[in-house]
Amino acid sequence: MRQSIIPLTEIQKKLREFKLSGMVNALEIRLTQATDENLGYTEFLSMLLEDEVVRRADNKRGRLYKKAKLPFEKGIEDFDFTFQPSIKKQEILEFATCRFIEKKENLLFIGQPGTGKTHLSVALALEALGRGKTVLFTTVWEMINILQQSRADYSYQRRIQIYLKPDLLILDELGYRSMAESTVEDFFEIVSRRYEKGSIIITSNRSIHEWNKVFIDKTLTSAVVDRLLHHCSAIEIKGESYRVRKRQ
Ligand code: ADP
Ligand code: MG
Repeated sequence: MRQSIIPLTEIQKKLREFKLSGMVNALEIRLTQATDENLGYTEFLSMLLEDEVVRRADNKRGRLYKKAKLPFEKGIEDFDFTFQPSIKKQEILEFATCRFIEKKENLLFIGQPGTGKTHLSVALALEALGRGKTVLFTTVWEMINILQQSRADYSYQRRIQIYLKPDLLILDELGYRSMAESTVEDFFEIVSRRYEKGSIIITSNRSIHEWNKVFIDKTLTSAVVDRLLHHCSAIEIKGESYRVRKRQ
């Protein structure tokens, strides 16, 4: 390709003005390549455009991952299924297809501390993110606290959207502490407004029939359980703690 008479910096400046930084970054390399390989104009231009497409996809993926607020990144491949035989790998792989998210269904992991509930939730979150879905990970406690605070400064309606928007909401550690009445109402608000609209994964160290100890109020407990379990798969992990075993 013939060398351009317009200075490269001028072109880069214009590209930057149009927010085409993927093209800016690749321009010099692609120009050299075009000269070396004797590329045609259209070929050169389409490569440069592809560089922009890739850059935008990377940025979007980066944003999705960051917004998900995962506590760590561990996948299904990092999970030792032989250690936890009560979990069927096939079943987890089915959830990894993210069909349950498309169907707005919920998922419940119940088991003692250290049995891999958070790990599996994060693994499914990574699968969802890989498919371009939006995810938010939070502990129940953190969500409840934020919503309570937001009532004080009148940002409640705005705050609640954070938990309604994502395709998948992960509520970790239900049941480690019991909830006061007003906080159960916030929890119920999220569950009922996501009902048939967006998936929730909940992890809990307590089985469902013990949830009345968590929510205290009987009516609210049954209301929460109703909405949550209507379209829901529950996975009960019966094994022992992976952490404890590793220490021994
Ligand atoms: P829980 O949320 O049930 O308390 P975690 O998912 O936090 O347990 O697991 C505790 C730690 O042990 C994490 O670092 C997790 O990656 C690891 N872990 C748990 N179960 C397994 C497993 N079956 N194979 C590999 N790592 C595991
Ligand atoms: Mg956990």
